[in-house]
Amino acid sequence: MPRINTLGVLTSGGDAPGMNAAIRAVVRTAKYYDMKVMGIRKGFEGLIHGDIFEMSARDVSDIMHRGGTILQTARSTEFKQIEGVRRAVSTSKYFGIEGIVVIGGDGSFRGARDLCTEGLPAVGIPGTIDNDISCTEYSIGFDTAINTAKEAVDKIRDTATSHERCNIIKVMGRASGNIAINVGIATGAEAVLIPEKEIDFTRDIAEPISLGKKRNKKHFIIILAEGVADSGDLEKRIEAEVGLETRTTILGYVQRGGSPTVVDRVFASQMGSYAVELLRDGIGNRIIGVKGGRIYDIDIYEGLDMPKIIRDDLIELSKILSI
Ligand code: ATP
Repeated sequence: MPRINTLGVLTSGGDAPGMNAAIRAVVRTAKYYDMKVMGIRKGFEGLIHGDIFEMSARDVSDIMHRGGTILQTARSTEFKQIEGVRRAVSTSKYFGIEGIVVIGGDGSFRGARDLCTEGLPAVGIPGTIDNDISCTEYSIGFDTAINTAKEAVDKIRDTATSHERCNIIKVMGRASGNIAINVGIATGAEAVLIPEKEIDFTRDIAEPISLGKKRNKKHFIIILAEGVADSGDLEKRIEAEVGLETRTTILGYVQRGGSPTVVDRVFASQMGSYAVELLRDGIGNRIIGVKGGRIYDIDIYEGLDMPKIIRDDLIELSKILSI
C-alpha cells in the first residue's frame, strides 16, 4: 500500500473519556508529518453523508481534558448495510481521504473492517469504557469510568455502614463485567454480579450476606453490572428473603463523562500518534491495542476473531477478599 497523505478521523459507538486526547494526537501527529487530516462528525453517519471538514493543529487545542468527543459520535444503522459502507467509501474518495482512523468499540471495528474490505484502509483505536475488546488489554475511557464509579461507591459505603444496609450499585456493562469486577475489587464489595457468570441467588447473595452478618459486617455492597438483572427485583428479593434493608443506586451516564485520567490521556495520545504513523507508512487494516502493557498492532480481521477473555482470576480475588 502506498504512503497516505490525507487521512480521516472519526469517533463511533458510545463516547468515552479520552477520545478527545486521541483525536488531538491524530491531528497533531499528522500535522507534524505534513499530512492533511479530515475530521468526520458523528461517526460512520457523517462519513456516509459527507459531514467532513479539514482540521488544523489549533482545532484540537484545549480539548485534552474534556470528556466526550468533539467530533461527536453516533450509531449508524445505514452503515450496517453494504450499500452504506460503499457510500462511505465513495464519500471518502470525494474528500480525498486515503485512509481512516476509527476510534470506538468492537462494533465500530467491525465497521472499520468493512471499510477495509471495500478498499479504504482503516486503523482502529480502542475507545470504550467497557474495556471489552478481545485483542487489547486496554481501551480508552476505562480508567476514567472505573475511577468515577469507585468514588461513588466509596461515598455510598459511608452511609451503608451508618445504617447497616445492603446497597446495590449498578454500573455500566451490558455484556461485559469488566467495570463491575474492577470496581468491586477496588471498593471491597461483598458481591460482584457480572453477565459472564450465571447467578445463583442463594450462593452468590443470600449466603454471603448471612455469613457477613455472623462476622459482624456492618454493610453489604453488591456491584451489579447492568446486563445481569433488574436491580429493583433484586432489591425486593433481598429484603424478602434475607431480611436486610436494601437500597439501589444506578450510576448510569456519569460513568461516561468527566475529565479523563492520566492513564487515559497517555494511552490515547500514544495510540492516536501510532495510528497516524502506521497509515503514513502505508500500513492499514490494523487495530491498535495494548499487550503486556505496551502498544502494539494486529490485523483487523484477526483481532476481531479473537475470543473474549473472562478474568476468572479477578473474580476469584474479589471473593477471597470479601470474607
Ligand atoms: P461501545 O462498546 O461503546 O458500544 P461500539 O463501537 O461497540 O462501542 P456499536 O454501537 O456496537 O458501538 O457500533 C458503532 C457503529 O459501528 C454502529 O452504529 C454501526 O454503524 C457500526 N457497526 C456495528 N456493528 C457492525 C457490524 N457488524 N458491521 C458493520 N458495522 C457495524
